[in-house]
Amino acid sequence: MPLKTGDEYVDSIKSLGLEAHVMGKRTGNLPEHPLVRPSIRAVARTFDCAHDEETKLLFRVKSSLTGEEINRFTHLHQSTDDLMNKVRMQRVCGQMTCCCFQRCVGLDAANAIFSVTYECDQAHGTQYHQRFRDYWGRIQSEDLVVDGAMTDPKGDRGKRPKDQADPDLFLRVVERKADGIVIRGAKFHQTGMLNSHEILVMPTLAMREGEEDWAVCCAVPTNAKGIHYIYGRQSSDTRKLEESDQDVGNPCFGGQEVMTVFDDVFVPNERVFLDGEIDQSGKLVERFAGYHRQSYGGCKVGVGDVLIGATALIARMNGVDRASHIRDKIVEMIHLNETMFACGIACSTLGHETAAGNYEIDMLLANVCKLNVTRFPYELARLATDIAGGLLGTLPSAKDYDDPVAGPYIKKYLAAAEGVDTLDRVKVLRLIENMTTGAGSVAYLIESVHGAGPPMAQRIMISRQADLEAKIALVKRLLNIS
Ligand code: SF4
Ligand code: FE
Repeated sequence: MPLKTGDEYVDSIKSLGLEAHVMGKRTGNLPEHPLVRPSIRAVARTFDCAHDEETKLLFRVKSSLTGEEINRFTHLHQSTDDLMNKVRMQRVCGQMTCCCFQRCVGLDAANAIFSVTYECDQAHGTQYHQRFRDYWGRIQSEDLVVDGAMTDPKGDRGKRPKDQADPDLFLRVVERKADGIVIRGAKFHQTGMLNSHEILVMPTLAMREGEEDWAVCCAVPTNAKGIHYIYGRQSSDTRKLEESDQDVGNPCFGGQEVMTVFDDVFVPNERVFLDGEIDQSGKLVERFAGYHRQSYGGCKVGVGDVLIGATALIARMNGVDRASHIRDKIVEMIHLNETMFACGIACSTLGHETAAGNYEIDMLLANVCKLNVTRFPYELARLATDIAGGLLGTLPSAKDYDDPVAGPYIKKYLAAAEGVDTLDRVKVLRLIENMTTGAGSVAYLIESVHGAGPPMAQRIMISRQADLEAKIALVKRLLNIS
């Protein structure tokens, strides 16, 4: 049955034998590494949710390719309901893990590549679409995790890929052989790369004439020869190396970002989905980004639910939960969070069928969704910081909490509302700290700005999609201006 459990998934990643550079050391057995373990646990939840009674109906769906029951994280959307259920599923995962659970990038890449390969074949007589169907059918049947690799290093931002001092600053094809291509370059900000079985490589921008070598889309196994991984640091990450998990904040789950280098990696023809068709590359970027901008209307909202809950709980623990200004600030947090969700649902509801047969979101609303996400989590974090109080930045360490001399003082003076255990209060404060300034803020704040493209990218798309002339025409008709 193509529905792995979390444990089966972790075993399957272990069997790949991936290695990475982690804080100065070449490191193997990554799923057991304390910096990596929380991130693989988060991905494992996406598998277990397909088995848990209360979530399995949402997480299971019938494959359009194989007819089998598959995990929704590998599904090609067949309706606007599917698009909405994707967002709902992501909100649930955000609520459960309170971090980036990493599995949406491949899902969003697959839905974009599915429709673009179809249209590329129509325009150029290529054979990419059937290849991709065959490839993705296997991903669904084996219930694999696929990373989507888009962001190139980009070098001098004022120059095109072909004009860079080092042409490898955008990933490119360096050799074409009878049976495949050889690619070289790097991809930055690779969410969950080391928890993935496969990589879908995509171009990072619309390519122009003379940039055919950079217009490449293909699939590579994560353990392919020539790939090197360098682990990304997150603030307070070394707290995960300490004996106690008390100061980590989110003791079980966390995200993962990796710099990935492709040092002349061979890709056989059956895994190549775009090679030189420059007119398709911009479309692929826009569609992938559109799906991922929709995704943020689910995942960040789920994490926001946890932040709102933690803020309400700390207010109660501090004995201020009935103060009217506290209640109003929490209402403001809920309003902002549900506004992001509303955008995720709206761009799904107004989605449409592509020529290839899968469903695509409404581009304007998906971009509005993500533009809100670049701001609202920061306001939620500010309000949480306001309500939680200054202890958020001054709390003593777990070691002092357990110290025979300092410990009793800390416990005595951290007492708050009657009946509240001081350790529970510390745990809630550490969780809020994790999300607003610690390791969790990578996913909740930095990624909310830059993931799926920075705010300017959404503004460009909004200005393109909004049809300003039609709005001017409304005024002219109303006022009888010719
Ligand atoms: Fe999924 Fe959100 Fe992480 Fe992107 S940022 S992979 S949408 S959880
Ligand atoms: Fe992301």
